[in-house]
Amino acid sequence: MKPISELTSEELKNIKIICFDCDGVTVERGTEIEETEDSLTVKTHVLSESLLNKMILLKKRFHLTFSSGRSLLYLERMYGKLLWENVSLQGENGIFILIDGQVIQQEKFTPELLNKIQQMKEAIRQLAKTNKDIRGFEPKQFLITPHCWKAVPEIEEIVKKYDTNNEFYCWWNGEAYDIAPKNLNKGTSLIKLTEYLGLNINQTMAIGNGLNDKDMVTVAGIGVSTDPKELEADYFTLGKLDLGGEELVDRLLEIIK
Ligand SMILES: [Mg+2]
Repeated sequence: MKPISELTSEELKNIKIICFDCDGVTVERGTEIEETEDSLTVKTHVLSESLLNKMILLKKRFHLTFSSGRSLLYLERMYGKLLWENVSLQGENGIFILIDGQVIQQEKFTPELLNKIQQMKEAIRQLAKTNKDIRGFEPKQFLITPHCWKAVPEIEEIVKKYDTNNEFYCWWNGEAYDIAPKNLNKGTSLIKLTEYLGLNINQTMAIGNGLNDKDMVTVAGIGVSTDPKELEADYFTLGKLDLGGEELVDRLLEIIK
């Protein structure tokens, strides 16, 4: 792994797409979620004014895409000011891509998969009645995201119980679990977006910080990690963890100016 300061203009020549992870990379980590019988509140950080302005400059040269476990609706709240030209959003760890005024879905869910998702959700809801470490579900179409005060091993057991063909991942990210079919991830989504844009996966650069970013950082032409202890990549950023995305943007703007 090399520090991002060593990235050269030669390496960047071929790159057409920059793919950013969201929480902890382009916006500060930390979601407040509260769910009761009849109400749900979700609060999170948004893209800073300074980073927004830098992104507006950057999208003159690259297609920018933001890939997250969050729902597309939520991502649009966070990055909507950057849409639509040269920008796309990838929601629910890549299940959906919002681009050119449409939503593209990676793959259809079979009735069997939908049934398993339903059973897992219901079992976690039942568990939440007695386990106070479970705070609530973040609203999503397909991805199951229970937020918890700390890791809840019973959730992992529930997933194992219903996932009879070993098709699902169940990733703990420090605030929540992400549970969905393994074949739909940020890596396969980046490939799909690349094909849609008529480009090659070697023409992409992806930056992330954790487990759910591994597929996209590995598959991208150039991978960048903002947290080298958690995630291996070609390059890493050096500064404050939550602002690694801004560090990369600064480096890219410096190279292309
Ligand atoms: Mg991440």
